[in-house]
Amino acid sequence: MSGLYVHIPFCKSRCIYCGFYSTTHEELRSRYVDSLCEELRLRRDYLDDRISTIYLGGGTPSQLCQTDIDRIFDAIYKYNKVEDSIEATFECNPDDITESLADYIKSSPINRVSMGAQSFSDDILSFIRRRHNASQIISAVERLRKADVSNISIDLMFGFPQESIQTWRTDIESALNLEVEHISAYSLMYEEGTAMTKLLLENRIKECDEETYLAMYNILIDKLVAAGYEHYEISNFAKSGYRSRHNSNYWNDIPYLGIGASAHSFNRMSRQWNIDDISSYMESISKKTIPAETEFLTKDSRFDDVVMTRLRTCEGIDMTGIKKNFGEDYLAFLYKEAAPHIENGLMTLEGSHLHLTRKGLFVSDSIISDLMHV
Ligand code: SF4
Repeated sequence: MSGLYVHIPFCKSRCIYCGFYSTTHEELRSRYVDSLCEELRLRRDYLDDRISTIYLGGGTPSQLCQTDIDRIFDAIYKYNKVEDSIEATFECNPDDITESLADYIKSSPINRVSMGAQSFSDDILSFIRRRHNASQIISAVERLRKADVSNISIDLMFGFPQESIQTWRTDIESALNLEVEHISAYSLMYEEGTAMTKLLLENRIKECDEETYLAMYNILIDKLVAAGYEHYEISNFAKSGYRSRHNSNYWNDIPYLGIGASAHSFNRMSRQWNIDDISSYMESISKKTIPAETEFLTKDSRFDDVVMTRLRTCEGIDMTGIKKNFGEDYLAFLYKEAAPHIENGLMTLEGSHLHLTRKGLFVSDSIISDLMHV
């Protein structure tokens, strides 16, 4: 089992909070897709196992024309062994989902759509420079359903400057009304170099206070769990049978290949990350060189990865696996570091699984950092 991620770094416009690598130079799209296909060919031996999940993320994959999406899938199938029952996710902006795109999605290998809704408040959407409004989110889901797309995820964000608890409640209720299979929700992060961070540094906006963040996260969990969603990862909620298989692979130490500018790859021995510049990426691929840096993983860094990723999940860390893969010393270290958190009700040990409690979710970063080896 392995995963494949393809990065599509094109956006029609830039949202003010976004720290992802993307460009508005749409004239480069077709040449960039040529490079993606070539990278898929060059790296056809990177993964040992069959691909079980494919994820076209961005940027904005829904900005690609259907011919280019077809070319990417053709190259994926040509150069890789792909399982019969794959999960193939396609990230979309709500305003890109026309009836024609929805019908195309249904006819393509894509069987899961992840949509960046972010908010149902038109004021917030306009402030953060999203291209869509709330009614376009609703229309997009209707169009996808009409085309018989049966696995839809939406992303929400909370903690915007001056966002009230009531606005957030309304957002959650609007999301629940759509009856989508999966919801991801993230608190706003002030990424270095973004327009949003600049506004904050210039004192033109005020950061949401800690108490409001925590209240919003609590409301999120309560409402989604009450509506039948499983809270299976810190920021992710799914109806039964609809966890993201691709993201679950990241949290389960499954190898993945990342194709495209700024994409990351992992094969249990090393991590690689491609250059985050489209022109340099395309030039290097044209010379048949993968423009990637590599970090070879030590036992400590592998252990830290397991702690960091597994503690985000509801199942937590499998202590039997720690003993088997890392040995008694690492197991003893984990028990020792976890003990005060268990005593304080922030973690719990169920059978052989160590995981965060609801109280622990709110201080997950500091707990994870305590349990890391390096
Ligand atoms: S948030 Fe998404 S759509 Fe907005 S700039 Fe970033 S990648 Fe593009």
